[in-house]
Amino acid sequence: MYNIIMLGIQGSGKGTQAELLSSRLGIPAVSTGNLFRAEIERRTGLGLEIAKYVEAGELIPPAIVDQAISERIAEDDALRGFILDGYPRNIGQAESLTKILEDAGRVLTDVVFIRISDEEAMRRLSGRRVCSNKKCEASYHVEFNPPQKDPNKCDRCGNDLMQRDDDTVDTIKHRLEVYHSETAPLIEFYRRAGVLREVEGEQSIINVETAIVAAIGI
Ligand code: ADP
Ligand code: ADP
Ligand code: ZN
Repeated sequence: MYNIIMLGIQGSGKGTQAELLSSRLGIPAVSTGNLFRAEIERRTGLGLEIAKYVEAGELIPPAIVDQAISERIAEDDALRGFILDGYPRNIGQAESLTKILEDAGRVLTDVVFIRISDEEAMRRLSGRRVCSNKKCEASYHVEFNPPQKDPNKCDRCGNDLMQRDDDTVDTIKHRLEVYHSETAPLIEFYRRAGVLREVEGEQSIINVETAIVAAIGI
């Protein structure tokens, strides 16, 4: 059983690698960013409440996030394992997750930490394009990982590609700051817990994948 967290700065390739691992292991990749963007799209009360945080690149309040995660990983498809992408993002969330897993009698098996520099993160996020189909949200890069069939369409589902509203230079800068102050402390947190698997992220997508597979011991 694999219960995995993807950790790394924005742009490190968590989403890309979570999808690859998901196909390989047959367990869902759970992206909190995707969950929240879908909620905003549905224009529910909750969606309206969280939209302002996402637009500003701020973290959504813990009560909302913890509940969304505990419900999602209790769904049928996630009972055989899960890959979390975008959660936890600070020590408070990590402690909540420990509690959620304990209550469910489950254990965290691996925290995959993908390391890249801030300069590389900026290059990747400013060229990122995502599938506009909220059920897919496959991630591409205009230069490093363009779609193979049509430059403006998703290879997987054929929908148009778009740029995320928060992938603008100012919001990216702010999100990177939030990462350094809030999320980076999780590296030590999980290293001490003995579950950190560190991989070099500044190499091709396929080489990062190979490194992750080796680090987890699949
Ligand atoms: P994250 O989920 O960590 O924010 P993504 O998986 O969305 O990162 O990747 C960010 C951008 O970088 C996307 O445009 C993606 O296509 C591209 N990318 C991902 N992995 C690599 C890599 N190893 N080399 C170059 N570009 C990459
Ligand atoms: P990124 O990691 O590139 O900033 P995500 O797609 O993971 O983008 O998340 C987009 C936005 O959703 C975040 O800026 C934040 O507002 C919200 N969000 C996602 N995950 C969390 C989380 N674990 N805790 C609080 N807010 C979150
Ligand atoms: Zn798609």
